[in-house]
Amino acid sequence: MTQAPELSSTPTLHGIGVSPGLVAGPIARMAPGISEPAVKTLSESRDVDKECERIALAAQTVKKNLELSAAQAHGEGRTLLETTAQMAADPTLTSSAQAMVRERNLVPERAVWEAADSLAQMLESLGGYMAERSRDVQDVRDRIVAVLTDSPMPGIPSLPEPFILVAEDLAPADTALLDPDKVVAFVTSEGGPTSHTAILARALGIPAVVGAGEAVTEQMRDGDIALIDGTKGVITLDPSEDQLRKARELASRVREFHGDGATKDGHEVQLLANVGDAASARSAAEAGAMGVGLFRTEFCFLDQPTEPSIEDQVTAYIGVLEAFPGKKVVVRTLDAGADKPLPFLTDSTEINPALGVRAYRTTRRDPEVLAHQLEALAKAEAATEAHVWVMAPMISTVEEAQAFTDLARSYGLKTCGMMIEVPSAALMADRMFEHADFASVGTNDLTQYVMAADRLLGPLADLNSPWQPAVLRLIKTACDGAAPKSRPVGVCGEAAADPALAVVLVGLGVASLSMTARALPDVDAVLKSVTMDECKRLADLALDCAYAEQARAAVRAELPILEELGL
Ligand code: PEP
Ligand code: MG
Repeated sequence: MTQAPELSSTPTLHGIGVSPGLVAGPIARMAPGISEPAVKTLSESRDVDKECERIALAAQTVKKNLELSAAQAHGEGRTLLETTAQMAADPTLTSSAQAMVRERNLVPERAVWEAADSLAQMLESLGGYMAERSRDVQDVRDRIVAVLTDSPMPGIPSLPEPFILVAEDLAPADTALLDPDKVVAFVTSEGGPTSHTAILARALGIPAVVGAGEAVTEQMRDGDIALIDGTKGVITLDPSEDQLRKARELASRVREFHGDGATKDGHEVQLLANVGDAASARSAAEAGAMGVGLFRTEFCFLDQPTEPSIEDQVTAYIGVLEAFPGKKVVVRTLDAGADKPLPFLTDSTEINPALGVRAYRTTRRDPEVLAHQLEALAKAEAATEAHVWVMAPMISTVEEAQAFTDLARSYGLKTCGMMIEVPSAALMADRMFEHADFASVGTNDLTQYVMAADRLLGPLADLNSPWQPAVLRLIKTACDGAAPKSRPVGVCGEAAADPALAVVLVGLGVASLSMTARALPDVDAVLKSVTMDECKRLADLALDCAYAEQARAAVRAELPILEELGL
């Protein structure tokens, strides 16, 4: 536990603040996962019929609880819960578990575990949609076993009041169920600043602290009141009345963005949104985004076992482009692999997928997938009024930049560029811009590659900071490489959503910042408080620092508006 005496006399704990906001509430801990019950047989005193009946009753209880939670949930979360409730009601699982109790005399929890495992394996062997359902079977299995063994129910707790969720980490299925009206903040012991849990927290606007470590989360007990500062990564246990009042005050201030990103002296900075589908594009347009700086096309197809048809792709792309008539939409070609595998494009047996055949590199094996995507994109552009800019992820060599941009132009796409997320691309930027019309820096990957630190690992979170001077120097090299030809360089990694870092990036020469739509008002407000010269001065200040925390603290100290806005 780290003390932060400047804040208050109440106990404070520290983690990594990944989603801004100050909020208080009671703590609810996520129950640990259910572990596999041992192979045990029923003692002679136990009645086999009664044990079989217990399995049926437990399945019914699980079904009812899931239906109740579904009734209170919205959107994707509701669908997910309804599907899981149906699975709990399916008699296949209960009857095969009951058969194991009768035939092998197994204890019910072991019988349910084994029956669910064979059902899940069977579904997986069918592939596609059915294979996806195997995860639901495992979820139902854990819930039934929890009832049978009288253990806490796994997953997100369901409480009548809003609460602060404390967990080891959140699985993608858990995060889909997060309801921002119920979960007002969360704290995890694992996870880093660019893990998908962190990205999702920012997208949902839920203040979050990750990578706090077990020693910290263990001190957060069910029902106790805590104050979470998602900007600073500070957790205050038992906050004072004054601290609670400040949190309420900040929460009541609503800031808006009006599509006019600029510095105080009127130097335009395009503030764009990161989107993954038509719905997020529409809400980004409503939030005032000046366009899209990163459309993660792979998000449209994550659950597809086979390559989507050109028609399906055209429909998905039109859905996003239509939200921004007359505006720029930067479309990234499929970034498959590592933490975002696409079954039809990536090899799940690779030992080191982050360094493997991912992103643009998949064209080495399946060039036609990129060709189809570019064809679909050109068709979608023709059907809408958006200005499509296309870029490829993970470009590592000048040859790749040339091959990609030549190919994209051959489909009639006019503005063709690349992502800079491999250090080699930043170092070779001047030569890259002989081919690329623009570049967007993916700071999430650039940081993980330059620091050689897996972006998903909590224990390496300090290395994975985009404030690392080595990362800032590479961004400067990229901007300097673009300057002679006046090519625009944007940033679309999570760094763009940090209002203090945004100022530094603009000072380094970055022309546009793309982020989750929720971060637009904060970044806008801070940018409007500084002139271009001040941005340059703060960029120099950060570049001059020897280490990340020093750079962050030095820049923040020069931006008093951050404190005023609670950022
Ligand atoms: C990045 O790497 O910074 C980026 C924007 O891409 P993704 O997070 O999708 O890898
Ligand atoms: Mg990336």
